[in-house]
Amino acid sequence: MRLVILGPPGSGKGTRAKIIGRIFGYPVVTTGAMLREAVAAGTEYGKIAEGYMKKGELVRDDVVIGIVEERLRKPDVEEGFILDGFPRSVNQARALDRILNKMGAILDVVMYVTAKPETILSRLSLRRSCPKCGAIYHLKDILPKVEGVCDECGSKLVQRDDDKEAIILHRLEVYEQQTFPILERYERLGKVREVSGELKIDEIPGEVERVLKGL
Ligand code: AMP
Repeated sequence: MRLVILGPPGSGKGTRAKIIGRIFGYPVVTTGAMLREAVAAGTEYGKIAEGYMKKGELVRDDVVIGIVEERLRKPDVEEGFILDGFPRSVNQARALDRILNKMGAILDVVMYVTAKPETILSRLSLRRSCPKCGAIYHLKDILPKVEGVCDECGSKLVQRDDDKEAIILHRLEVYEQQTFPILERYERLGKVREVSGELKIDEIPGEVERVLKGL
């Protein structure tokens, strides 16, 4: 199964991607996490990406496409993968077509996650993340066992720079302008299945199985 998860920042794409990955056993390819790792490691790609990410802008297409193309050459994705956060522009969607063509594969489904603006704002502004393992918490809904400390790896939790309010609003604008238009393209191809980003975490597996049944 080859799946793209599309939706605004804070709609719950990452949470869903992890759950789908666990249920179906496919690797999750998360461009945001890969870019954050590249920034932390100080790679060439990371140095370019950092400025865009801080401002809440999309990182240059050639950089992101390069990272995804490299990742999709690895043997573990031959049977399928879940793309979380890619494509995010028309150019990236075209690049994905090219990459899949080369692999002799097709995209099965685009899961489109929708959520109310107030849900998105609360999720992102109250989100705390682990800079080391990427685990996600929420100051009201998903509390770590020890305040401010990651349950998974014990690192100190942080608020991502781009989860501050001014940047969140800009990321939402960028989504509307650059990412939302690619939905139409996938709709024309009959690939889109819409799901609710308002569900509680324990309701997601049932919904995922229902929506992806038969794939
Ligand atoms: P995310 O963790 O998905 O919210 O992504 C965080 C930031 O990484 C975004 O605001 C962008 O700056 C960058 N990013 C992630 N995925 C992409 C992509 N497919 N294209 C361009 N920039 C991306």
